[in-house]
Amino acid sequence: MRFDILTLFPEMFVGPFGASIIKRAVEKGLIEIHTTNIRDFAEDKHRIVDDYPFGGGAGMVMKPEPIFKAVESLMPEKGRSQVILLSPQGIVYKQEIARKLSQYGHIVLICGHYEGVDERIKSLIDMELSIGDYILTGGELAAMVVVDSVARLIPGVLGDEESAKEESFSNNLLEYPHYTRPREFRGMSVPDILLSGNHEKIRAWRLKQSLLKTLQMRPDLLSEDRLTPEQRKLLAEEIEAEAYNKRVKKITNTGDDHSE
Ligand code: SAM
Repeated sequence: MRFDILTLFPEMFVGPFGASIIKRAVEKGLIEIHTTNIRDFAEDKHRIVDDYPFGGGAGMVMKPEPIFKAVESLMPEKGRSQVILLSPQGIVYKQEIARKLSQYGHIVLICGHYEGVDERIKSLIDMELSIGDYILTGGELAAMVVVDSVARLIPGVLGDEESAKEESFSNNLLEYPHYTRPREFRGMSVPDILLSGNHEKIRAWRLKQSLLKTLQMRPDLLSEDRLTPEQRKLLAEEIEAEAYNKRVKKITNTGDDHSE
């Protein structure tokens, strides 16, 4: 997998990609990460890449010519490449998109700056991606998020392939809680079940914790059609238990059951 990042600030990528898993993946030849300075494709001697917006208004806009030339120099191929503009106006980035992108051989990421890029850049791209509903100063941090999350899905990049299969969002659920040594820490103990050695009970406990955490933190992820029969059953039991607990709490607080 090859990543090409078009940016005005290539130096920003040195630290984040020069350590840990991504660094090792590059060293092993599993991924290639290249940065291209958009300014190298400016057409004038002052290497100008931005200009005032037509119609007036605050800020500067990135000119189309250098970005078109920079993308064209990378020769993206239909089917093999995805050309992506990072933008707060794009579709919101999710694990599902990371998974789809990991199937391509070549990802080109265009980092905007200032007020953004000339609208005609849209004719160049396959996808406009936002990493969330907030405004960054530039697309570089967003490009790093995309590279990192896609790269770890490439076979061989993670030491243990199983970790990417079980983690949050991989099955539309948040992941179960993790514990490590010591068994007791400041009065908090590791749940007994995890020390039982009973793999089936541990699996069922983890699934239930996963469902509970998702129900509590991200109920939007729990759509019926995506749940397995076992997940649906556990969730139904849990919702019933929760409704029961709420009712008991109400009775305890008022001293009376006013419900029918
Ligand atoms: N004027 C733009 C608007 O209101 O939509 C915001 C421009 S922002 C200051 C500059 C650049 O940062 C954008 O062109 C984009 O590349 C990047 N950027 C900012 N927020 C982003 C986000 N949430 N996701 C992806 N890229 C973002």
